[in-house]
Amino acid sequence: MKRTFPTLFISHGAPTLAIDSSPAHEFLRTCGETLGKPSAIVVLSAHFEARRATLTSGERPETIHDFGGFPEALYRIRYPAPGEPALAGEIARRLESDGIDVHADDRRGFDHGAWVPLLLMYPAADVPVVQLSIDTSLGTGYHYRLGALLAPLRERGVLIIGSGGATHDLRSYFTGAAGAPSPSWVSDFNEWLAGRLEAGDADALLEYRQLAPHARRNHPTEEHYVPLLCALGAAGAHASGTRLHHSYEHGVLSMDAFRFDATPR
Ligand code: ZN
Repeated sequence: MKRTFPTLFISHGAPTLAIDSSPAHEFLRTCGETLGKPSAIVVLSAHFEARRATLTSGERPETIHDFGGFPEALYRIRYPAPGEPALAGEIARRLESDGIDVHADDRRGFDHGAWVPLLLMYPAADVPVVQLSIDTSLGTGYHYRLGALLAPLRERGVLIIGSGGATHDLRSYFTGAAGAPSPSWVSDFNEWLAGRLEAGDADALLEYRQLAPHARRNHPTEEHYVPLLCALGAAGAHASGTRLHHSYEHGVLSMDAFRFDATPR
């Protein structure tokens, strides 16, 4: 019998997370072993946006190097995990039964929001991976619902991961210095977020733009935030979060990671 998996939200930071040692890098290297090996992994990444819900449905998805200006070594990395077309098909049916128009793309590969954390968590690349796209134009509620539609998969040993960033103001990131202290507009938002996640306050998390301090400044665009709602929704209606990791890159990018478990009330 397969065990039920929690869901995860991972802040993936810059692609160099894959090769440079940092607290977040070291955390991810132990995270997979701590969780154990799932039967398959479904990733909702900030770097896979589509106007129609899209699934990777190929047998052998490629590794996409969807970034520019980083060290050459990063472009040589391949993450050769197989796809799982049958699982992609099942997810498509689940979404379609809820009225969502779905497209299966058997040529789409894994973006770095998926393969960078997975390379560290499951370096053997022997667990099948399926990616499902996000669409920020549909708002926060859509992404929570998308997660909820995936929730039954957890009982079959599927690990569902939202991969984005707890804070994600890249402009400040590129002008900031490594090791700089975190400004209060970042840490205030980050701690608000952690508090609401630990409380399982889905309503506040869906309305974060109105309720959280400096929400817009930390998420000028929402693609790195909404994967969090997918992970939360996929853990069940009354799920709450546990912070597994906390650190900052350049003071402004939170690298926080959470696991979500269903808590019956
Ligand atoms: Zn990213």
